[in-house]
Amino acid sequence: MSSRLADYLNKYLDGVAVSAPEVLRRYANDGSVLDISPEVVVQPVGTTDVRKTVLLSSQLAEKGLRVSVTPRGSGSDKTGAAIGDGIVLDMRRYMNRIISVDPRQRLVHVQAGATISEVNKALQPHGLCLPLTLMGFENPELNDQNHTIGGLIANNLGGQALPRLGRLVDYLVQLEVVLADGSVYHTTSLSGRKLKTIGVETTKGKEEAPSFADRINAGMYKFVRENSEVLAELRARRVGNTGYLYGMTQVGDAEKSLNLMPLFLGSQGSLGVITEVILSVDYLGPSPDLMVAKFDNVKQALAFAGDALSENPSILNLADGRLFAEAGKSGKSFLPLGGLPDSTLVMLVGFDDSSAKHRQKKIRNLSKILTKNDISYVSSLRQEFNEEYFNSILKAALNRVERNTVQAPILDGVIVPFQSVEKYLNGLPRLERLLDNKLMAYGSLITDLWTVRPEVDFTGADKRPILRLAREYGRFVLECDGILAGEGGEGRVKAVSSLVRRNDFADSVDRFVKKQFDPRGIMNAGVKQTITVDQVMEQIRRDNDFGIMEL
Ligand SMILES: Cc1cc2nc3c(=O)[nH]c(=O)nc-3n(C[C@H](O)[C@H](O)[C@H](O)COP(=O)(O)OP(=O)(O)OC[C@H]3O[C@@H](n4cnc5c(N)ncnc54)[C@H](O)[C@@H]3O)c2cc1C
Repeated sequence: MSSRLADYLNKYLDGVAVSAPEVLRRYANDGSVLDISPEVVVQPVGTTDVRKTVLLSSQLAEKGLRVSVTPRGSGSDKTGAAIGDGIVLDMRRYMNRIISVDPRQRLVHVQAGATISEVNKALQPHGLCLPLTLMGFENPELNDQNHTIGGLIANNLGGQALPRLGRLVDYLVQLEVVLADGSVYHTTSLSGRKLKTIGVETTKGKEEAPSFADRINAGMYKFVRENSEVLAELRARRVGNTGYLYGMTQVGDAEKSLNLMPLFLGSQGSLGVITEVILSVDYLGPSPDLMVAKFDNVKQALAFAGDALSENPSILNLADGRLFAEAGKSGKSFLPLGGLPDSTLVMLVGFDDSSAKHRQKKIRNLSKILTKNDISYVSSLRQEFNEEYFNSILKAALNRVERNTVQAPILDGVIVPFQSVEKYLNGLPRLERLLDNKLMAYGSLITDLWTVRPEVDFTGADKRPILRLAREYGRFVLECDGILAGEGGEGRVKAVSSLVRRNDFADSVDRFVKKQFDPRGIMNAGVKQTITVDQVMEQIRRDNDFGIMEL
């Protein structure tokens, strides 16, 4: 089947379809703990290739043969959402063009497989940038910036948790998407009046039958109108990226206008394939002024975080000091901090105000508080250091391979609200004892996104301890009023039945949206759908090689 499918596709595509086992193996992993081999990998060169591939999958589904389509960018997803058992569409390989930059209107138009760093390189000569590093700031690995624009939209990078920096949805102008019937759709705002008439004239025989996209829009209009009160109430809350609820709260007010675009945020390839994107961009800001302080306990760190927050920082990250000790073992150290006792927490604070005077004043205000409380710190006013180096230390700590174990990305990027951080950080040592593993946390007190990476050996035959880690940590995050799908969607890993807590309305939204967009269930099947513990056990990888492949 695999090679027949590839041969068939190769007849019609300008790009390439591959079924060689060694190539399929390379696409069987993403940044998660799972392993699923595709049947075919397609490397499209443009939207038409994507259309043809999705259309084939749709036609096969009509005949009862399910070959799902999984879009894939750089494959860094931590939830097993960039792998699948059908066709993997590699958007990174050829669909990575910067189509145009419009400096006057501050817009950039790209193919979905372009990376953040490629886009920023094209913007830099115009004094512009995509402020997305800031969005992922709690996440040191994002400094690599090799994530594709399509991937970060599909994972709603930084998510909803950006009170100061804005949200990804605010930077999106338009998406070109290949829908599940193989049609190409350009997202746009449709007025309530227009939406009301979709399909109405047809019944009177006056117009052509509504298109697939028309039908989605018309269905959405009805659903949003019928549920306007509950959606308005949810809009004011942080709902996480599980299912399609977040997107649904952002599509607009049915009476005025609706835009399907936000539904693709966090959709993880399960509603359509994003092929091109127009983004609004910002002026290139100054490098932030920074300070790093170390604290003896959680209470002390959070009291200072309160002071720092009142100065409106752009960075406020907190890390378990043991991560620095771990990084030190591989030669990465932040010398100004000196030796770190086990109970230390390290905080990075940054200000990116456009005025250097303001930035420096804020650092001086906070320095006074630290000095008064006898807390040691360094600041970029006195000492040369940058955030890239600081983050590279955390990155080294989080990716070390030791005694046949790796730091497993089991439940990265959860939301822990500020008011629960004390409970979360003080509760981790108990969980460490229970699970007999190290849970060294790092996170942001601005975006509220937190990550721990326990040590796991994937070569062992017994996979149950891995699931126990996920279950116990997941349960603990929920006890702290947290949200599991904070950074990115739930994919497969966070969709495990024991971790999902939903209500009837959220379930009805998910069923409705999926049915509207993907009635045949061909878009990234298995992702963003509840999965049993046994199903996920079968998919857990059997090796410790987490190097994300370079395509
Ligand atoms: C729980 C979680 C934790 C994370 N933690 C980290 C971390 O520690 N370090 C880090 O570097 N990053 C992290 N990320 C961020 C993740 O790597 C980003 O989402 C990244 O932006 C994905 O970019 P990518 O190009 O690698 O996408 P991929 O990993 O290839 O794909 C991500 C998802 O988007 C879909 N997708 C990709 N392209 C398209 C497209 N064109 N159209 C439609 N759907 C598409 C895929 O199907 C998949 O579901 C995390 C994400 C999640 C979910």
